[in-house]
Amino acid sequence: MRAHLTGVAAAILLTVPGATAQTPPPPPAPTLSNPTLAAIWGEGMDRSRVAALAQVLLDSLGPRLTGTPQSKAASDWVVGTYRSWGIDARAEQYGTWRGWRRGITHLDLVAPRVRSLEATMLGYSPGTSGPLTGQVVLIPHLIGPAALTAFLPTVRGKFVMLTAPESSCRPSSSWEEWADSTSLARRKVIADSTRADWVDRARSTGATTVLEVAKMLEDAGAAGVLSSYWSQGWGVDKVFQASTETIPQVQLSCEDYGLIWRLAANGQGPVVRLEAEAELLGDVPVANTIGMIRGREKPDEYVMLSAHFDSWDGGSGATDNGTGTVMMMEVMRILKQVYPNPKRTILVGHWNGEEQGLNGSSAFAADHPEILARLQVLLNQDDGTGGIDRLTMEGLVGPGPYFKKWMDQIPQELDGKVTLVDPGTPGRGGTDNFSFVCNGAPGFGLNSAGWDYGTYTWHTNRDTYDKIGFEELRRNATLAAMLAYLASEEPEKIPLAKRDLPMDNRSDQPGTWPVCGTPDRSFVR
Ligand SMILES: [Zn+2]
Repeated sequence: MRAHLTGVAAAILLTVPGATAQTPPPPPAPTLSNPTLAAIWGEGMDRSRVAALAQVLLDSLGPRLTGTPQSKAASDWVVGTYRSWGIDARAEQYGTWRGWRRGITHLDLVAPRVRSLEATMLGYSPGTSGPLTGQVVLIPHLIGPAALTAFLPTVRGKFVMLTAPESSCRPSSSWEEWADSTSLARRKVIADSTRADWVDRARSTGATTVLEVAKMLEDAGAAGVLSSYWSQGWGVDKVFQASTETIPQVQLSCEDYGLIWRLAANGQGPVVRLEAEAELLGDVPVANTIGMIRGREKPDEYVMLSAHFDSWDGGSGATDNGTGTVMMMEVMRILKQVYPNPKRTILVGHWNGEEQGLNGSSAFAADHPEILARLQVLLNQDDGTGGIDRLTMEGLVGPGPYFKKWMDQIPQELDGKVTLVDPGTPGRGGTDNFSFVCNGAPGFGLNSAGWDYGTYTWHTNRDTYDKIGFEELRRNATLAAMLAYLASEEPEKIPLAKRDLPMDNRSDQPGTWPVCGTPDRSFVR
């Protein structure tokens, strides 16, 4: 057996896959009569920097949770990178947010057997001071207030499981492919009863939200709470922020959470050892990162590039929204190289606080009415790594024919799959172009093809560098650079009117234009 395994290892070492494969050559440059478009193609497609920028941003600087020192360091890097390219850049503070520094998280199962668990603190969670060992318990099915009063003191010094377990971390697509009808029916019964069991335990505390349960456990002196939020795919979990204020909240993988739950439910006495370092830094300044190439002929009119800069921090924030960030940095680099004296001022907004409610972009829109009033177009990207395939005019009548004209000049290789939706309807706030659209300003989204974004990368622990399609990213950046150039060169300011919106089915009234939210300029729990 030993000899056989050694042989396998040797074979692996000797047959490196792809060692002889050639990198495919870049697609041949299309014939472009406009020399600036041809130069944009050359810079964007032949001398792309997207992979190198993404590697520094995602691997070395890492995720960019609002209010963290890492987010500030990444913004400093963007400013420094722009300046090294000769582009004006600055951080523009719009408020404060709760400051937090993530340190290490180690969670080990130490009884009834040893296993290092896949676990991490949730964002803004308090840490431990040194390693903390404690039993893990479930909230029982409490019957009556007396049962709750008796239960709460028993959690002191223990870890309590706060969220529902999954009966299976195998995606439903796999069950549907492999299970027969009896097995599938049984799986559904088990999944439903597992959920119902947890809801009954949680509700029996008298609380109506998980936040209230967490507060109750915290006040009762629990050592910490454990939770899990499966993203419905193999090995993926969503990682958001803690519900606790004074004790750690650690998120486990779907599999490890299920393991601990079953050990506790079956009376097998799970004990874990947690070491979690975190610093709560109080209120810290938060800023958008802004870059600018000043216009030559119409410096007070603007073409704006837009992508949120902040991320959740379970992974590296690669596709949400490292790809949008790198894409817009690359557009600025290309334009500075080949179009350094634009007709209109080219701005880029790398927004902070998007994940907490579009705070950075809506603060910028509120603080800069002069830019909103003279905005030619804003191009935002925030839905992953796929090739751009949809561009909607957000219910604005007027810009559609201009985009059509521009896209006719852009090579098919870049925009052949793009559907132009004209006029479409205004978005309702999913991402930062909404902060402009709600003001009637021309903020458009460059929407990307799916690439399993919702399940596998959006807000998950697997949103990392390796998930990026760099060919798509390079094409997206080149396309956006061409659109920004053509919008800047357009002789006139694009006319804008809000369309009459279709009837609202619920109210039976004519649809109304979406109303802007107020940015949160400080954190209020
Ligand atoms: Zn996003």
